[in-house]
Amino acid sequence: MEILRGFKDTLPTDMEKWHRLEKAAKEILESFGFKEIRTPILEKTSLFARGVGEATDIVEKEMYTFFDKSNESVTMRPEGTAGVVRSYIDNHLENLPYKKFYYIGPMFRYERPQKGRLRQFNQIGVEVFGIENPSIDAELVYMDKMMLEKLGIEDLRIEINNIGCRKCRPEYMNELKSYFKKHEESLCEDCRRRLDKNPLRILDCKNKECKAVANKAPKITQFACTDCKDHYNKVKERLQSLDIKFTENPHLVRGLDYYTKFVFEIITDKLGAQGTVSAGGRYDGLVEELGGKDTPGIGFASGCERLVELLKTKEEKLFDYYIANLNSDEYALDIAKQLIKTTKKRVYVEYEKRSLKSMMKKAGKINVSYVVIIGENEKNNNKVILKNMDNSTQNEYDLKTFLDNEVKRWL
Ligand code: ATP
Ligand code: MG
Repeated sequence: MEILRGFKDTLPTDMEKWHRLEKAAKEILESFGFKEIRTPILEKTSLFARGVGEATDIVEKEMYTFFDKSNESVTMRPEGTAGVVRSYIDNHLENLPYKKFYYIGPMFRYERPQKGRLRQFNQIGVEVFGIENPSIDAELVYMDKMMLEKLGIEDLRIEINNIGCRKCRPEYMNELKSYFKKHEESLCEDCRRRLDKNPLRILDCKNKECKAVANKAPKITQFACTDCKDHYNKVKERLQSLDIKFTENPHLVRGLDYYTKFVFEIITDKLGAQGTVSAGGRYDGLVEELGGKDTPGIGFASGCERLVELLKTKEEKLFDYYIANLNSDEYALDIAKQLIKTTKKRVYVEYEKRSLKSMMKKAGKINVSYVVIIGENEKNNNKVILKNMDNSTQNEYDLKTFLDNEVKRWL
């Protein structure tokens, strides 16, 4: 049986990196006062149609949508924000004393699979509600950067942009539309389609010719209202006072419709074409759009697979003890039970019958700290042989002394 295209198993051999990623992320996010939220993978299709935007690539062609058995159209979430906003409204989370949330989990998009682009991928994301203050925009960028640095990920670039708001963006969109109309013959098929509905997306097309046209397109700076300009300038000031280096990219837009004002991406050159590891921004209209009160919002999401790809491999022990059980299953299990209970360490009991030589070979291969050898003799005399794999010393102990020693070893 083959796995679906664009889907991937996360194997035990990769798990140390995933755990490291999740641990570092949680530590940083919690230290900034964020609380975890878990929302369903399956939601009503209309949530994403409204929350992500009808004219986006995601909604137009990337969603896993189907009818359930009662003929309701449902969708596997393509991103995390819409679900968190729905939950915020549904559960009246505005009544909580905190409004900063994070999530970790799988997203689904029917995209063309390639390096760094899967159909099921994981995101670590955050959402903040009710804060208009530009300091929070800077805090999120700072926190995101800190998270990546904690993971040892280096050589990152931060790009930012102002994409206007509900007040000033329509005028800019009109201007963009008429500019791109004039160059319609140079645009790719996708961008021609985007022209009427979502000309902002053309700025971000990866096609060479589209890029050339986009380079000369009018910039938002000329159209942004005082509100947006003020906000954006203040975010920049805060970033500077946090000592965060960034570049302004007037073509940076987000793939989702609901973003406003400040947007940012964190990018690495180490992953090739799919180099964006985190992306986010403000979405001041979204809560209202989904039926809640007019509430500002801001968030970002990081692609876990891309981050894991950047993590360095750690030489680590697979287990602390390997019990080379020659032919004393009960005795072996009893020792494992006591070792685990008293030391809280990782103990792997061998039940496959093989020679001591082949067990020692295996112990070497799996990279374990200690091997506990027990055969008939040891069982009959209540003893064990302990081999320290780091310095190759080997000693015999009676069981009680062995257990006492091992407890002390890890104190
Ligand atoms: P892109 O321009 O790469 O398609 P996007 O604008 O669709 O990105 P977002 O929806 O903002 O990306 O998602 C945030 C992050 O999630 C991305 O920066 C990336 O790291 C990750 N991501 C998005 N789509 C995928 C995917 N199909 N496979 C793996 N990671 C992804
Ligand atoms: Mg995309």
